[in-house]
Amino acid sequence: MNIDTNVLKIVNNAEKKLSNFYTELENIAFLNQKKVLEAFQNNNVALRHFSGTTGYGYDDIGRDTLCKVYADIFHCESAVVSPLIASGTHALTLALFGILRANDKMLAISGSPYDTLMSVIQGENIGSLKDFGVKYEQIELLNNDFDLNSIEKSIKSELPKLIFIGRSRGYEWRDALSVEKIGKVINFIKKLNKDIIVMVDNCYGEFMDTIEPTDVGADLMVGSLIKNAGGGLAPTGGYIAGTQKAVEQVAFRLTSPSIGMEIGSYTYGYQYFYQGVFIAPHITMNATKGSALFGQVFSDLGYEVCPNPTAKCNDTVRSIKFNTKDELISFVQSIQKASPIDSNVLPMPWAMPGYDDEVIMAAGTFVAGASIELSADSPIKEPYIAYVQGGLTYEHVKLAVIMCVQELLNAKK
Ligand SMILES: *Cc1c(COP(=O)(O)O)cnc(C)c1O
Repeated sequence: MNIDTNVLKIVNNAEKKLSNFYTELENIAFLNQKKVLEAFQNNNVALRHFSGTTGYGYDDIGRDTLCKVYADIFHCESAVVSPLIASGTHALTLALFGILRANDKMLAISGSPYDTLMSVIQGENIGSLKDFGVKYEQIELLNNDFDLNSIEKSIKSELPKLIFIGRSRGYEWRDALSVEKIGKVINFIKKLNKDIIVMVDNCYGEFMDTIEPTDVGADLMVGSLIKNAGGGLAPTGGYIAGTQKAVEQVAFRLTSPSIGMEIGSYTYGYQYFYQGVFIAPHITMNATKGSALFGQVFSDLGYEVCPNPTAKCNDTVRSIKFNTKDELISFVQSIQKASPIDSNVLPMPWAMPGYDDEVIMAAGTFVAGASIELSADSPIKEPYIAYVQGGLTYEHVKLAVIMCVQELLNAKK
């Protein structure tokens, strides 16, 4: 690989600084593994649950049990987990359309929801929430925490049907929100009005902590199976977990009103979904250790990173601020080069559906586009920030960090 000893020294030093932090991550993974194991045992998961079904999928016991396992892991009444959900955005869309009706108000309280959701909420003549008469308000975060005054004012001026919280940073320069902070604001909201449905975009958040938003009162929690929860094995899909009442409304949107989760077949079977969520606490830990290593190494090299290398992480993403557009593009390209799949492909900035700016993405992944696998993406705009995440094994991420630093130093020669 032509690696300078100097580069190895930088990475090994960074790794040493992280050893206590890694121990904390191992403790979190241990407690989450226990939670997942118990959910499997409580539901008597057996080989027959892995079998595929066809047609309507009535009495698809693999599908039904998978939903129950997720509901148990997340300590909530009900969950929809399905390979028929095409992406995280699709899962979030189902949740929003499942709950909101004409003239209802949706209130987002963690600033702008993820880029791809903005068209879902506010697009013109595409069947967006706005097209269906749903009103929308947004409140920005204050010092990376919730703006309680503005939230109270908005609730009192017109009661929202649904309040939306994005746990992960999206494309913002901030750390993800902790479950503790989310719990506090939910408590605040429910005291003002207990009927408001609080929904959390939990993408990249699963198994980062020993509690999830559903443990602190979220009515709906939504995520993608090609991120943390799928453990790198789920080939596609998404989940929506929460209260019986709210999840049922969402299931009616996934298939049809009144039919909900009675139908939905999947020919290939469910083994990878079960196996994926079983190993998800460990895989998420690997990705988070890798994310911390990227943070520490680039911080040591003088780059601004977010969150700080040893600060508690609330999602798997690490933001790195580069000095120039070229440096950013070359970094994303070196992530692709360090990948097991398509390492010979050169990613370029491109217009992507659902995003305003051109985006460059590195995803040399086994499951196409999976961001629990090592990946990076950046909208091409100032400041030039790369969002790196994933890594199925820590060892792979470490190799990738080494290769990225070598490329960076080569370019400066
Ligand atoms: C990934 C992600 C989504 C959904 O994105 P998809 O690409 O549609 O799966 C939504 N919100 C956040 C914060 C995300 O990270």
